[in-house]
Amino acid sequence: MSLMLGIDLGGTAIKSALVDRSGATSDTRSTPTPQNDPTGQRSIEVLTELANSYRETAEVSGVGLVVPGLVDAQNGIAIYSGTLGWRDLDIVSQLEANLGIKVTLEHDVTAIGHAENRVGAAKDASSAVVVAIGTALAVSVIIDGEVYHPHPAVGELGHTPTKNQRPCVCGLKGCLEMTASGGALSRNYKAETGEQVSALEIFERSQSGDTTALELVEEFMDVLSTSFVFVSALVGPEVIVLAGGVSTAGDSFIDRLNQELDQKLTIHRRPKLVLSKLQAGSGSVGAGLLAWERLG
Ligand SMILES: [Zn+2]
Repeated sequence: MSLMLGIDLGGTAIKSALVDRSGATSDTRSTPTPQNDPTGQRSIEVLTELANSYRETAEVSGVGLVVPGLVDAQNGIAIYSGTLGWRDLDIVSQLEANLGIKVTLEHDVTAIGHAENRVGAAKDASSAVVVAIGTALAVSVIIDGEVYHPHPAVGELGHTPTKNQRPCVCGLKGCLEMTASGGALSRNYKAETGEQVSALEIFERSQSGDTTALELVEEFMDVLSTSFVFVSALVGPEVIVLAGGVSTAGDSFIDRLNQELDQKLTIHRRPKLVLSKLQAGSGSVGAGLLAWERLG
């Protein structure tokens, strides 16, 4: 049976799976992302080896690859990634030359939106916004059952201003993702306490009397829910799907955001907040589904 290989290349791990036409996955793997690889050449070597290893046991007819940052999907170019350090990398033509099969490229959060829309938590919603909160924050917008992504920077909600003055990698100060992301929560906690702990641990501590953790989490919830007010005013999604590592903080995370939205939304459509069903696999599922759509 012919399958697509879906690959989600992130800052620390390359998540991959074989994906059939319905979005069902098999042979899910995680491979470390080469670090300090600004030319992307080591990553291309690792991706080539990975794809060839899948092809030893499965009939792979194409590859869907998704990466963070700004992506020129049409021309197969990774334009810019602060996480990976890449600039204008012609990754699709290099991989196609190595593999001899078709490769398609997309922005990771757009692929997550695609997966949630087709087979995940947004499947039955005509409009949805999928918010990926991990190291950074970005969204995928689904309107009338289709992912809306007319420009590489659409969805970069993480780079919109809030009232704090923390410097951001994009050159601005006070961007949303400098407060409302897992990476920021860890950094901001360390700046105040000197202690390096995970975002999930900081959420835990905020519920057990750690005032620094509580203040940072309250600020996180305040700016994130405020951004959801703008999203609701513009898109009016039926559901907001919370994806990415931070969303695994679970029910208490949703409970707090619900409380904030109850206070902040009046006339706008009140979105239902739901957790991603696909979680860490959503990027590779979306990559595989996009490969079916474009190459199948
Ligand atoms: Zn920024």
